[in-house]
Amino acid sequence: MPPLDTATILVMSIVATTAMALALAVMRPRRSEGLGLWALALVVYAITHGLVLMRGAMPLTLNIVLSNTLMSLALALLLCAIAQFQAQPAPRLTAALPVVATAALMFASIDSYHARLLFAGVIWAAQLALTVRALWRPRAPNQRRGALLISAALGFQCVLLLARALWFMVNPLPFTDFMHGDDTGKLALVSSLAALVMASLGFVLLAKDRADAVNEHLASSDSLTGIANRRQLLQTLTRDVACAARLNQPYAVLMVDVDHFKDVNDRLGHAGGDAVLCHIARLLQRHLRAQDLVGRWGGEEFVLLLPHTSPEAARGVAEKLRQLVEETPCSHKGQSIDVTVSVGCCAEELGPGDEAGQLIEAADRALYAAKRAGRNRVESAPLTRMHVLEGALAIPGRVR
Ligand code: GH3
Ligand code: MG
Ligand code: MG
Repeated sequence: MPPLDTATILVMSIVATTAMALALAVMRPRRSEGLGLWALALVVYAITHGLVLMRGAMPLTLNIVLSNTLMSLALALLLCAIAQFQAQPAPRLTAALPVVATAALMFASIDSYHARLLFAGVIWAAQLALTVRALWRPRAPNQRRGALLISAALGFQCVLLLARALWFMVNPLPFTDFMHGDDTGKLALVSSLAALVMASLGFVLLAKDRADAVNEHLASSDSLTGIANRRQLLQTLTRDVACAARLNQPYAVLMVDVDHFKDVNDRLGHAGGDAVLCHIARLLQRHLRAQDLVGRWGGEEFVLLLPHTSPEAARGVAEKLRQLVEETPCSHKGQSIDVTVSVGCCAEELGPGDEAGQLIEAADRALYAAKRAGRNRVESAPLTRMHVLEGALAIPGRVR
């Protein structure tokens, strides 16, 4: 193995962590992401190594206590960054206690390099373990890739710190300070940098995955009611229908339209109309199974997708929802607003060639029939299949 130079490793560490901190700062992180605190931890880590490089240029006791305490502070900042990302209150005690303990124990064991090594190893390993724990508690983040990367990096470093401290307890060596130690000290420096680089990439990945999930949610939900929007409905319907058609399964689409909604707007203003839309979205959502989806098709129209649902069952659901809306007035600013809905239902066993658009068209046709028949009612319409049309068109030809 080529000889390792401690000073060179320290300089490389300072450069790498400062560059990472700058890169995080350029990303202009939001407070809730914890990336700002993580960048601060990287800066403190770099300062720690700068202090070790300056040994000899300042009183040794001050240098040892300060550099080790700052290392503990860097780890405490990592813990706070994770807590901030997890929207947890700042873990003041678990963050501050190890820093104070490091300062006190470094001062108390200033004459024993091995005691310092043991104390620092145990305290820092505990800090790393707490940081990994905070990542998975109270709930594991939805975006697991980054969390796994951070856990692997910090977990490995935690084990390494403990192993090194234990090793020197059993095999005390004659050297007396870090700069003049053996190769394990240099390897510990390199592995600590590698762990920090890996954990930092994991943290960026964690933040990116969460931002992607938030954007995905925004792109697929209706901003007023919070339920699925038309894009999400169409995406789910297309996928479901392809699956049901291949397996010859029943599928149902309900189209729900608020009756005389224009009057609601005229009487109560746009805000009142919006309150009614949210009220109906909540009612429709309440009685669905896990595999069903309700979304806002547009304006005051809602669509419900019910996989594996027979025509009888679909009509039953539609009637139940119609009744529920009729019997549950919307309360808005102390007023009770009575509303009703008309429901168009298309439910059939699907087969090859059936497409999402045909179901929507049939449900819309049924809704129109419900409106014409007086509103506040459920009507059904069959799918218009191409081969039925072709058959109908073929009959006159055959007669001729
Ligand atoms: P019908 O019983 O035939 O369905 O009559 P209607 O009044 O419900 O239907 P119409 O299509 O005549 O009017 C729908 C109204 O819904 C018109 C539009 O201003 C209103 N609207 C559409 N989107 C929104 C919205 O997001 N908020 C509110 N408050 N009103 C909306
Ligand atoms: Mg309407
Ligand atoms: Mg309408």
